[in-house]
Amino acid sequence: MNYRELSRKELVREYTKQWNRYLKYEEQDLSLDLSRGKPGKEQLALSMKMMDTLTSRSVLDSENGMDCRNYGGLDGIPEAKSLLGEMLGVHPENVLVCGNSSLTVMFDILSHAMLDGLLGSKPWSRVENRKFLCPVPGYDRHFAMTEHFGFTLIPVAMKEDGPDMDQVRRLVEADPTVKGIWCVPKYQNPTGVVFSKQVIQEFADLRPAAGDFRIFWDNAYCVHGLYPDDDAPLPDLLHACTLAGHPDMVYEFCSTSKMAFPGAGISAVAASPANLIDLRKVWAFATIGPDKLNQLRQVRYFKSMAGVKAHMARHASLMRPKFEKVIRVLEEELAGSGVAQWTTPRGGYFLSFDTMPGCAARVVELCARAGVKFTPAGSTWPYGHDPQDTNIRIAPSYAPISEVETATRLLAVCTKLAALEKLAAQYCVTVPSLAGAQTA
Ligand code: PLP
Repeated sequence: MNYRELSRKELVREYTKQWNRYLKYEEQDLSLDLSRGKPGKEQLALSMKMMDTLTSRSVLDSENGMDCRNYGGLDGIPEAKSLLGEMLGVHPENVLVCGNSSLTVMFDILSHAMLDGLLGSKPWSRVENRKFLCPVPGYDRHFAMTEHFGFTLIPVAMKEDGPDMDQVRRLVEADPTVKGIWCVPKYQNPTGVVFSKQVIQEFADLRPAAGDFRIFWDNAYCVHGLYPDDDAPLPDLLHACTLAGHPDMVYEFCSTSKMAFPGAGISAVAASPANLIDLRKVWAFATIGPDKLNQLRQVRYFKSMAGVKAHMARHASLMRPKFEKVIRVLEEELAGSGVAQWTTPRGGYFLSFDTMPGCAARVVELCARAGVKFTPAGSTWPYGHDPQDTNIRIAPSYAPISEVETATRLLAVCTKLAALEKLAAQYCVTVPSLAGAQTA
């Protein structure tokens, strides 16, 4: 049923039907949460043996004979550099393995750029009207980080194969105060989009007006395919930038957070030799070295890239049914309605859902009233403000599958109600339950 083609009478009838469905959900006293991308309990259980990898009887030396119980080794241990380098598709020499969180590494690099400047450039804190590009919809924590550092955040449209590169080129090549862009190249948060080879090459071919422009290439979901057979590696941007003559333009990031225990994994940054020398110099003031025992634990557990793939296939077998459930329910409820669209990711942790313009906040509010929490509308945009009020991020990983189904069905009902309210207002129709719905 296309909601945009309903007669006034049909509209009122459909609203009443959906409102009665909504009331039934309200009666259930639900308390469900599809708001944050955390692994579910069964996923955490997959990695429990990691806890047994190191014991008091283990040899605690790294491959190169370093005693991991002691200080030192700013770069991380060689076997961790190899494994995380392979995940990113770069040479181990281009990798520093760091602490538990890749977001912290991004924050530290931004702090360094703000305070000291990158490779001899003017510190960003002294650049008036500094700007950062934010593909939208995107990751709220990225946007918040650059907002914190005083950047003006510029939204860039996401297309089906990555950010709108015409827009990116126009902004980056004209304006020296554009200092960086956030990218999640594989299974982007929240659309699930995988950047195409062409987009990656266009990134490498950028000719930024700012000599210290940087691409923050957050490959958080590099091994998180839902369908492991189609999980082809992406061309590596660091390599492409090197071939294009500007190897310093990118920092790549990843971590093992969503492979084992979030917040208790290891992270990595990959960059050009010059950028790594720069980072080592400043980080030597911050630490005598990372937690090498955790690096050892992680590498001994995963063993190799083949081990990573086998482990991630087990994650995929738990995640895939949840994603497929969300998509099936949305199709059953909303296909052909003309008031919603959604992505169908092949990996990652999220789906992106768009309501009719002006409805997303109302949908999230209605869901919350019935006991189901979604990420606040607007949070996938800079400053938490979605100018069209359309986008909602769906995070199905944490909830059990039965709850994923209930929450998605409620989302669909609320999407219909919000759309019908808007359409009713446009047609100057009074919807019977509308007053109660909005004031309760
Ligand atoms: N980057 C992206 C795109 C994410 O979605 C997340 C978590 O949701 C992170 C980074 C967090 O990574 P870490 O735990 O390594 O800080």
